[in-house]
Amino acid sequence: MIKELTIISGKGGTGKTTITAAFASLCENKIMTDCDVDAADLHLILQPEVLRQESFIGGRAPVMDKSICTECGTCQEVCRFNGIDLDPDKGYTINSFACDNCALCAFACPEEAISMVDSVNGNWFISKTPYGKMVHAKLGIAEDNSGKLVTLVRQQAKKLAEDEGLSLIVNDGPPGIGCPVTAAITGTSLVLVVTEPTLSGIHDMERVVDLCRHFQIPVQVCINKYSINLVNTQKIREYCAHLGIAIVGELPFEPLVNKALVARQNVIDFECGAVTRVVRKMWQEVEKQMMA
Ligand code: SF4
Ligand code: SF4
Repeated sequence: MIKELTIISGKGGTGKTTITAAFASLCENKIMTDCDVDAADLHLILQPEVLRQESFIGGRAPVMDKSICTECGTCQEVCRFNGIDLDPDKGYTINSFACDNCALCAFACPEEAISMVDSVNGNWFISKTPYGKMVHAKLGIAEDNSGKLVTLVRQQAKKLAEDEGLSLIVNDGPPGIGCPVTAAITGTSLVLVVTEPTLSGIHDMERVVDLCRHFQIPVQVCINKYSINLVNTQKIREYCAHLGIAIVGELPFEPLVNKALVARQNVIDFECGAVTRVVRKMWQEVEKQMMA
């Protein structure tokens, strides 16, 4: 059976991708994914070489055939989203930034001049990295189908793992608690929440832990830069102890981590002292929980 680990954080910039990239170096027989499709950055460290690229069809969008349009204005009248502009030179046109793809204009047009067609909202890729294969994606600018794209990335990773007889998928998840996060954690074997000992970090951690508990997904916590605020670190320990959540790693603040990232290396290949040791140990704990 394929196990799946998703690494998330309450917000961006807490070290989630640093941990994911380190795990890429430590775990075997796996597929890596970058499910942070709005701000993908795992590729910066894993340096993938693209083997396959596909379009992501996120939905359907209206297209107007100007040769049929009689400029009756019905489409503009029915649209609640101001998705139809009237241009003095071009006549009626679809404003794709305002359009909500509801299809009402296509339904209402007496000339059938508007049709709904598949819209390409981005691309997804299967790539080769020094640590195995990776599935990742790039959402188009101003596109908002990230939850759907995350689901697609996970499906493709699962298919690839099955085809290649691999037993593990490690997802670098999106930040926050929105639709993409739900898409990244649903049905996974384990979620690792990476947090920092700041008040906002604690608040964000609580929100994502609540989300995981709502979906009854096992959770573990990693405190990144625990040494920057020992009082808040203690608060996180108490919160986790109260809920019976294991803290599998407490990483000290270590300037060498930034040097590793600038060198586009993970904290296992680039020696970062205590951080390297703790992350190694943390992977063993995470693996133990997933195999239990
Ligand atoms: S409803 Fe149809 S015919 Fe009328 S303006 Fe819109 S596209 Fe043109
Ligand atoms: S698809 Fe819906 S939102 Fe978009 S232009 Fe037509 S009526 Fe407006």
